[in-house]
Amino acid sequence: MTQTKIEILKNYVGGEWIESNSDKTEEVFNPATGEVIAHVPVSSQEDVDHAVETAYQSFQQWKEVPVPKRARILFKYQQLLVDHWDELAEIVTVENGKSLKEAKGEVQRGIENVEFAAGAPSLTMGEQLPSIAEGLESGVYRYPIGVVGGITPFNFPMMVPCWMFPLAIATGNTFVLKPSERTPLLANRLAELLEEAGLPKGVFNIVHGAHDVVNGLLEHKKVAAISFVGSQPVAEYVYKKGTDNLKRVQALSGAKNHSIVLSDANLQNAATQITNAAFGSAGERCMAASVVAVEESIADRFIDLLIEKANEIRIGNGLGEDVFLGPVIREAHKERTLDYIETGEKEGANLVRDGRIDEDTKRDGYFVGPTIFDNVTADMEIWQDEIFAPVLSIARVKDLNAAVELTNQSRFANGACIFTKDGGAVRQFRETIDAGMLGVNIGVPAPMAFFPFSGWKDSFYGDLHANGKDGINFYTRQKVITTRWV
Ligand code: NAD
Repeated sequence: MTQTKIEILKNYVGGEWIESNSDKTEEVFNPATGEVIAHVPVSSQEDVDHAVETAYQSFQQWKEVPVPKRARILFKYQQLLVDHWDELAEIVTVENGKSLKEAKGEVQRGIENVEFAAGAPSLTMGEQLPSIAEGLESGVYRYPIGVVGGITPFNFPMMVPCWMFPLAIATGNTFVLKPSERTPLLANRLAELLEEAGLPKGVFNIVHGAHDVVNGLLEHKKVAAISFVGSQPVAEYVYKKGTDNLKRVQALSGAKNHSIVLSDANLQNAATQITNAAFGSAGERCMAASVVAVEESIADRFIDLLIEKANEIRIGNGLGEDVFLGPVIREAHKERTLDYIETGEKEGANLVRDGRIDEDTKRDGYFVGPTIFDNVTADMEIWQDEIFAPVLSIARVKDLNAAVELTNQSRFANGACIFTKDGGAVRQFRETIDAGMLGVNIGVPAPMAFFPFSGWKDSFYGDLHANGKDGINFYTRQKVITTRWV
C-alpha cells in the first residue's frame, strides 16, 4: 500500500515507516474541494532526535560509498521518477491545487535536479596544481558535511525538496526532510521511490510536522547544515537561529517580482507571458509576476490585453481538462487575499479586473479569480507585500530609468523581467536591477538545476544559493593538501 493513501501519515526514519510519538495531527485538505485527504502528524522533538541520530549513524557508512555508486542509485531514481511522472503530478495537484499541466512541469524540474545530482562524480572532483613551489604540489579534495536538514514550503512539494536532497545525498551527506505540513503527501512517495532505487536505509529520512520539528533541526548538534525555502519572516528566523547554532544555512525567502514592459516590446508576447506568470499556480510561485511597471505610452493598450487574457482563463479543479487557475492553498489564504484586494481599493489603486466575482470562484474549495490593479504606487501595501495569490499590480512609469528606480525600492529581489527588443535597454536592466534571477521577454525566469538559484536582499539569507555549483559547494567542504615527495 502506498503511504499516500493512509489516513495519518507516517514519518520515514532509517528506512522504516514509523508513527510519530506525538498524538497531535493536522488536517491536510484538497484545496480544490475542501475535503480532508490525510492527517499529518505534528511530530515532536523526540521524533527529530531519532531521525537525526539515525541519519548521523548512516552518514558514517554513506560517506564511504564510492561516488559513482551513489550516482548509480540516482540514475535508477531518475528512471523511477520518469516512470511515475503522471502519478507524482496528480499527487501535487490534489494536495496543492495547481493545474495538472503545471504539476507535470514541476515534476520535470525535480527530475532535472536528480539528473544534475547524478553527475556527482565529475561535479565533486578536486583540483591540483603540480608545482606550487619548488618540489611542492597542492590539491583540493571535496567531502560531505554530515546530516543536512531540509525545510520546505507548500507551493512546490516536488521541486523544492528536489533542489535539496538529490545533491545532498549524491555528495555523500544524509538528509532529514521536514515537508510543508500543508502539502506532505508527495514527500512520502518520493521516499518510497528512493527505497525502490536502492538507497541504503537512513540516508534519506522524513519527519512531518511544524515549528517544533524546524526548531529541533535548527538546535540539533548533529545537524551540520540547513536548507530552507519559505516565507520571509520564517527564512530570517531560520537563518538567524541556524547560524546562532553554528550551522551552515541557506534560506530562500519571499518575493515580489517585477516585470518591466517597454514601449517597443512585443505586447502580445508580454501580455501572454505576464498572464501566465501572474496567475499560473494561482500566483503561489516565488517567481510569480506580481508587479508590472509599464511605460505610460502603451499602458492602456497593454492593460486591455491583460484583461482580455485574464478573461479567457479557465478556473477550477486543477485535475480538470484545460483548467489553468486552481485554488489557493487554504481558506485562510483566500480570506487574506480578499483582504488585500479590499486594501488595494482603499489605498486608491484602480481595480480593473475583480477576481472576487468570477462565477467559478463560488464552488467548494478556495478560489480567487485573476485580479488586476492599475495605478499602483510604491507606498501601497499591495505593491510592497507578497500577496502570493492571483493578484497583479500595474504601475505606470515614464521610462526604463523610472521602472528600475521603482523596482529597486522593494525589499525583495528574487526575480525581475524586462520586455523589449532593445539590446541597450536589456543591458541597462541587467546592470542596474536588484534581483537574483532575470528574464528577458519571458514571464518566469525559472530555477534550473544546472544554475544557482536565488534572490538578493530580503529574498535570500545566506551565501551559497540552491542548485548548480553553489549547491555542490553548500553540501561539501574541502581539504587542501600540500605535498613534497621526498
Ligand atoms: P512558510 O514560511 O509558511 O513555511 C515554510 C516552512 O517553514 C514549512 O515547512 C513550515 O512548516 C515552516 N514554518 C512556518 N512557520 C514557521 C515558524 N514560525 N517557525 C518554524 N517553522 C515554520 O512558507 P509557505 O507558505 O509554505 O510557502 C510560501 C512562501 O515560500 C512564499 O513566501 C514564497 O515566496 C516562498 N518561496 C520561496 C522560494 C524561493 O526560492 N525564494 C521558493 C518557493 C517558495
